Amino acid sequence: MTHRIDTVLVVTPHPDDAEGGAGGTIAKWTREGKKVVLVVCTNGDKGTSDKTLKPEKLAAIREKEQLDAAEVLGLEEVVFLRFPDQNLEDCRELRLALCRQIRKHRPDLVVTIDPTPRYIQHRDHYMAGRVTLDAVFPYARDYLAFPELMEEGLEPFKVREVWLFRPQEPDTYVDIEDTFVTKVDALYCHVSQMGRPREEREAWLRERSGETGEHIGGGLAEPFKRIVIER
Ligand SMILES: [Zn+2]
Repeated sequence: MTHRIDTVLVVTPHPDDAEGGAGGTIAKWTREGKKVVLVVCTNGDKGTSDKTLKPEKLAAIREKEQLDAAEVLGLEEVVFLRFPDQNLEDCRELRLALCRQIRKHRPDLVVTIDPTPRYIQHRDHYMAGRVTLDAVFPYARDYLAFPELMEEGLEPFKVREVWLFRPQEPDTYVDIEDTFVTKVDALYCHVSQMGRPREEREAWLRERSGETGEHIGGGLAEPFKRIVIER
C-alpha cells in the first residue's frame, strides 16, 4: 500500500455481497484495528422464493441478519440506504447518498463491487459499483457537486484508493487463511439467503479461495482490483 489505511468504507449492493466478496479481508482489517464502515445500498426485499414472505418482513429480517454479520466481522457501523431491491439506478439520489457517506467517514480506502459489464449480472451490482466510483470521483471531491452536503457540514473529500471485490481483472490478493472461518460465519448470519448447507458452501468457498491463494504462493485468499486515484 502506498499510504496508511486506518478507515475503510465498504459499499455493498445487497446484504451479504460484501461478506461473500471481501468478508475475510474485512475481518482481517478489523482485527488489525482498522475502522470499517459498511454501506448497504438496497434492502434486499426481493431475495426470496418464499411466496408467503412479504417484502417488508424480508427487508427487516435482512437488516437484522446484516447487523449480526457486522458483529461477527467487527464492523464499526452499518449504514442502511434502503433503496428497494432490484431498483438501484444511476440517479442523483444514490450519488448523493453515497457521497454523503464518503464525506462523513473520509475513508483512506473505499471498497465496492466491480461494475465491469458482463452479460449476466445483477443490475443492482453494477449500479452500486458504478455509482460508488462516480461518488468517489468527482462528486465527493467537488464542493459544488452537492450544495446540500455543504449545508450538512460535510466538506469535500478526495478518496485516494478503491478496491473492487468480485473483480473481472484481479491484481491484488489478500491472505485470508486466519479469517476464512470468520468470513463463513458472517455469511451464514444471512440465514434467509443461505440455501446450501454450510459444509457444502464452505468446501466450495475453500476451494475457490485456495485457487485465488495460488497467486500469493498458497493458502486462502480473496481477489481485488486495486485503483489508485492520482490527481
Ligand atoms: Zn447481491
